[in-house]
Amino acid sequence: MKIRMSSPDLNDADREAVYQVVQTPNLSMGPKIDAFEQAFCDLTGAKHAIGVNSGTAGLHLCVRAADIGVGDLVITTPFSFVASTNVILFEKAVPVFVDVDPATGNMNTELLEQVVEDLSFGGEAARRWLPRDLPAVNRSGLNSVKAILPIDVFGQPADYDPINKIASQYGLTVIEDSCEALGGEYKGKVAGTLGDYGVFAFYPNKQITTGEGGMIVTNDDGAADFMRALRNQGRAPGDTWLQHTHLGYNYRLDEMSAALGLSQMGRLDELLQKRAQVARWYDTYLAEIEEVTPPQIVPNTTAVSWFVYVIKVAKSVDRDRLALLLQEKEVPVRPYFAPIHLQPYMVEMFGYQQGDYPVTEDLGNRSLALPFSGSMTEEEVVTVCQGIAESIIAAEKSI
Ligand SMILES: *Cc1c(COP(=O)(O)O)cnc(C)c1O
Repeated sequence: MKIRMSSPDLNDADREAVYQVVQTPNLSMGPKIDAFEQAFCDLTGAKHAIGVNSGTAGLHLCVRAADIGVGDLVITTPFSFVASTNVILFEKAVPVFVDVDPATGNMNTELLEQVVEDLSFGGEAARRWLPRDLPAVNRSGLNSVKAILPIDVFGQPADYDPINKIASQYGLTVIEDSCEALGGEYKGKVAGTLGDYGVFAFYPNKQITTGEGGMIVTNDDGAADFMRALRNQGRAPGDTWLQHTHLGYNYRLDEMSAALGLSQMGRLDELLQKRAQVARWYDTYLAEIEEVTPPQIVPNTTAVSWFVYVIKVAKSVDRDRLALLLQEKEVPVRPYFAPIHLQPYMVEMFGYQQGDYPVTEDLGNRSLALPFSGSMTEEEVVTVCQGIAESIIAAEKSI
């Protein structure tokens, strides 16, 4: 029995759906993507869904649709997968980080309020929120705050009531990175619809998979048309194959992927329930291990979409030593997330240092993602938890 870090959950009907497509000549932009998009309108109630070939591509198109450009400021968090920050950098805009809530890893909305206020005030008050070094292109022309990009970390939506309140007060766009939260809910409202734009992703470790793929949802008609054009080499409605109204990309989702995604969407409840069951097993079997804090679900999260199962170890435990001991027992685990501001390219571009975002760094130092997927068995969960119980004493830091 080899325990895997993550594993897609495909059945015969899913595989058959892909096989059906390869028997037709329509391998890109055919009926499957239309149906896959419709499934997202049905799930979220959004007016538009736009399929793309990755979550990153989806986030990038939202940045373009929100007209975020050179020198614009976008407020986001450093406790995420790098894509949520990178899409801001693609347009030479400046990510302004705020730290996160220690319980959820989601944006700290008190800090958000403070940073938006200070940045609109300008001068020294604003300066302390900005990166130490700013690339030359931006030093001369820093603009005002344009957008907020919160992340629904580990399947739990960020706190959107205060986020949207601040956004409407200052006229900011909200781009929801819901790439980890398909099917999650905030106060009864479905993840992905909590801002102006929402984005999902379908890499094989996500709740549903298309191999590679992503989906944008929005109620904005004009933005939807624009993003559909940009994903298809900038061809606006009415353009011919060699007419390009905009500077676009090839962010199209192919038909095989869309067919797989459509079939997986039909199983969404089942897939989410299986993941929730695995999470409950972990909760049960980890309860006796004092040095381990399980994921904390806040009351605003009326439905969790279990994406990963990330524990926090006590300060007395050497997390990296624990990870090593578990790997020796063939239990794969992974530190998750590694703070974005301390990635080599971010340090080089912006001069970030240890200590800049202490909550993110503490989570980064003490978090461990355990093996997780809907196809895990109770026996496998028990094996992982026993491994942790056996290793945790040996991983205590010596004083
Ligand atoms: C998975 C993920 C993405 C998108 O990833 P892709 O590999 O581009 O599909 C973006 N943000 C977060 C937080 C993610 O977990």
